[in-house]
Amino acid sequence: MGSDESVREAKYLLTGRNLRILVLFVRTFYTLNPQFTNALYPVDMKRFFNSKKSRPSAVLLFSLGCAVVGCNQGATEAPFAFPSGTLVDMSYAYNENTIYWPTAPGFVKSTDFEGVTEGGYYYSAYSFSTAEHGGTHLDAPIHFSEGKHAADQIPLDRLMGPAVVIDVESQAAENRDYLITAEDILHWESQNGAIPAGSIVLFRTGFGKFWPDREAYMGTALLGTEGVAQLHFPGIDPNAAALLATEREVRAVGIDTPSIDYGQSTLFETHQTLFGANIPAFENVANLDQLPLTGALVIALPMKIEGGSGGPLRMVGIIPN
Ligand SMILES: [Zn+2]
Repeated sequence: MGSDESVREAKYLLTGRNLRILVLFVRTFYTLNPQFTNALYPVDMKRFFNSKKSRPSAVLLFSLGCAVVGCNQGATEAPFAFPSGTLVDMSYAYNENTIYWPTAPGFVKSTDFEGVTEGGYYYSAYSFSTAEHGGTHLDAPIHFSEGKHAADQIPLDRLMGPAVVIDVESQAAENRDYLITAEDILHWESQNGAIPAGSIVLFRTGFGKFWPDREAYMGTALLGTEGVAQLHFPGIDPNAAALLATEREVRAVGIDTPSIDYGQSTLFETHQTLFGANIPAFENVANLDQLPLTGALVIALPMKIEGGSGGPLRMVGIIPN
C-alpha cells in the first residue's frame, strides 16, 4: 500500500459524485451522438474515435476512462487488505465447564432438535443461556461507568488493532494476588519501545494454563458470595490502568484471568478507570502464550447485545508472516 495520500486519492476517485458525473457524461454523449448507440462494439468505437465531430467527446471519455482505471489500481492497494499470517484462537469454547464469576449462572445449552427428521435429512438446533460475564468475554465500559458505551455501542475500531503483550508470568507464578503495576508497563517499554497509540494491550499472567480448572484458575471452587471472598488471581493495578487511560491512547485492554482487577479487589478501580475513559476490556483471554510481544493483530468481536454490559467474545489473533 502507498502513502496516505494515495489512499485519499483512491477514495476521492470512488466518490458517488464522480460516478454520477460519469453517468451524466455517457447519457449526454449518446444524446449528442445517436449514431454511436452501439459504441460498445469495437467497430463503432473505432468510428467514434476517428470522427472529428465526436472528438471532444472522445477526449473526455478517454480522460474519464483513465480516471476509472486509475481508481481501480488504487483499489488493488486497498487500505483494509486482509493480512495474511498465522491465526490464533483466543476464545475458550462455551460448555458446562466454562468458568463464570462465582455469583453468575453458568452456560446452559439445551437441545431443541437433534437427529434425522421425518424428511430423511439430519437436523440439529439448540438453545443456550448465559450470563454476560463468563468464558472469554467483553466488558463494555457501561459495566462500571454510567453513560459510557454499552456492548452494541463500542466503535468497531476499538475491537480490532495491533496488539502488544506484556508478560508478567514470573511475577504471577510467585504471587497469585499479583498486581500488574505502571512500573511493569514502563519496564516493558524500556525493552520493546513505547506502546504505540491505538494498541490493544494484553496482559499475560500465564493463568491460562489452569483453564478450565476453576480452583487453580480462580483460587477457589466455591460459588456465591463465599466464593467471591476467596478469589485469588492476578490483575491490573489501578495505577497501571490510569497510565493506559491517560498517557497511552490504547484501544482496549485484555487479560488471561477472570477480571482486569485482581481477585481480592473490592472497589474494582481498574474497571472504573478504564471504563470511565470508554476503553473496553477482554477477560479470560485464551492462548495468550501463542502471541508475540509485538507485531500481532487482534480482532475481538463480542455478541452485539443492545444495552449490554458485556458478552461472549470471539477473539482472534493474527501473527503476520
Ligand atoms: Zn467481565
